[in-house]
Amino acid sequence: MKASAAQQRLLLDLAELDAEVAKTAHSRKNLPEDAELAELATQLETAREDVSSSRSAVDDLKTVYDKVDKELTGMTEHAARDKAAIEAGSVGHKAIGELQHELDTLIRRQEALEGEMLELMEQQEATAVEADRSEAALLTLTEKELEAAGRRDASAAKVDERVADLNERRAALALTIDSELVSIYEGLRSRGQVGAGLVQARRCGACRMELDPRSLSRIAAADEDEVLRCEECGAVMVRTAHSGLPGQGKPRE
Ligand SMILES: [Zn+2]
Repeated sequence: MKASAAQQRLLLDLAELDAEVAKTAHSRKNLPEDAELAELATQLETAREDVSSSRSAVDDLKTVYDKVDKELTGMTEHAARDKAAIEAGSVGHKAIGELQHELDTLIRRQEALEGEMLELMEQQEATAVEADRSEAALLTLTEKELEAAGRRDASAAKVDERVADLNERRAALALTIDSELVSIYEGLRSRGQVGAGLVQARRCGACRMELDPRSLSRIAAADEDEVLRCEECGAVMVRTAHSGLPGQGKPRE
């Protein structure tokens, strides 16, 4: 087929826009904010585990504390009963001796439990501090995630806008090109290939294949409006003054 050299050159602009669309779409899938969010998600998971384990440590200590507290109350009541019985003098001498012995044991146990409770309270305090700290860390990370998600959405919207703009320009450009040329180009593109390439430095600009001297001579001899296809990839081979074809001499700017 035939198409003016100018029309053929427009295919290069189209290919450039398509490459830009592809590049921009790729950057949409690889936003730096997405990497940041993935990192934050990992940190958040750890922070949630920290909160959960520090909360259960608080709960466990509370259970132990309540148990000791209950035992201490029982012990105190028991000691009070023994004391009252001794003071009332309503039991015999031998029984008093036994009660006194029991009371002493109870008091020693009471003191031990009180010590244990003090220790538990200290542990509770430390655990509560740890729980507060991990909850604060979780909150900070949650806020960071929210902020990063906002930035990601803004970046994504910006990229989407750019893709839409490029597609619009591309559509407008395609309308100015010979429909038969465009259909060759689109046919290749739909197969994942590059539709057109500039012949330069003895290579097809689409597939980068080096052209043999025979092909180069054929290209150089062809009329300017002859649409040439790469034997390797099928792309439209666009020639310009920069193609460096045999007999072309130095490019005119
Ligand atoms: Zn090629």
